[in-house]
Amino acid sequence: MAKIGLHGIRHAYGVRPGRPNDYALKEVSHDWEDGGAYALLGPSGCGKTTLLNIISGLVTPSEGQILFDGRDVTHLSTEERNIAQVFQFPVIYDTMTVFDNLAFPLRNRGVPEAEVRRKVNEILEITGLADRAKRKARGLTADLKQKISLGRGLVRSDVNAILFDEPLTVIDPHMKWQLRSQLKMLHRQFGFTMVYVTHDQTEALTFADKVVVMYEGEIVQIGTPAELFERPSHTFVGYFIGSPGMNVLPAQVDGASIIVGDQSIAIDRAPKIAGASRIELGIRPEFIRLGREGMPVTVTKVEDIGRQKIVRAAFAGKPIAIVLPEDGEIPTDARVSFDPQGINIYADSWRVAVE
Ligand code: ATP
Repeated sequence: MAKIGLHGIRHAYGVRPGRPNDYALKEVSHDWEDGGAYALLGPSGCGKTTLLNIISGLVTPSEGQILFDGRDVTHLSTEERNIAQVFQFPVIYDTMTVFDNLAFPLRNRGVPEAEVRRKVNEILEITGLADRAKRKARGLTADLKQKISLGRGLVRSDVNAILFDEPLTVIDPHMKWQLRSQLKMLHRQFGFTMVYVTHDQTEALTFADKVVVMYEGEIVQIGTPAELFERPSHTFVGYFIGSPGMNVLPAQVDGASIIVGDQSIAIDRAPKIAGASRIELGIRPEFIRLGREGMPVTVTKVEDIGRQKIVRAAFAGKPIAIVLPEDGEIPTDARVSFDPQGINIYADSWRVAVE
């Protein structure tokens, strides 16, 4: 497995007249650790697949370098980069048996047959395909075919990295959990460097050690699930991660107070906002307390979703969401207070330090 270095990567598929800055990837520079499980997460069109294809060699970046363990692979083919790929839709040989499909990448590289059998049997067990080993792939369900694809991605232990492009899209929802935890287990066991593209936050947060959040062609944050939740470095991350996402309220700063509408909220120290044209306060619904004390709020709607209640309310003239435990009470003349731990200040969408 290898450490993946991305240095000054930018990519434009074609610059349209009048739009010289039409970059699908604007600037990506980062070193990804050997053996790390990274999820690329973001909405449709943010550049996840472009970045994955640049790592695999399917796309050559307009600018920048890709290094595997310090070796420049920017102009090497996918084959020469020695990586395994699992795509959104199964890529398998229909006329071969399940066993032979998994054995193919190994036999193709001249791995001795005894070793092929040992490795393929191990992966057949892990993917739950063992009882179908002798079946032809043709005629199997899309779920099972995709499991074969996953198995083929996982069978080689000599690859530099395994890249996954939304591999669970065609998998039945109840099987997704199982496969995700199997992937996680395999990662722990074999220490693969994995890069996994998804637009599903649950998938990213359960699979990855580090989640790479992308937005409009840029990486806006790389962090553990806890870091993304507690300290979103961009308002987009706050909004995209969490359900409901972070409340983002237009604000002004007055020394060590932040003003939202007609409300003033004391914070520990003055935030560094010099030169910013737009200030916002971000607070997750879980960090707002609803009770009889604090600032005025008007509850507009309560959604009971089983283990929690989501309260929709108007605060300082803006809509906010508050998450309460299942048995949380909503007083008739409710007021709110913000947990200081949960307050983030943003200047032009980027989080600024207050401590
Ligand atoms: P999705 O989740 O929908 O696959 P994504 O985050 O993977 O989206 P990309 O597919 O990398 O995003 O696309 C990034 C941008 O590049 C988009 O604006 C897209 O329209 C554009 N793009 C992608 N592939 C091409 C291509 N082959 N030619 C021209 N533009 C492209």
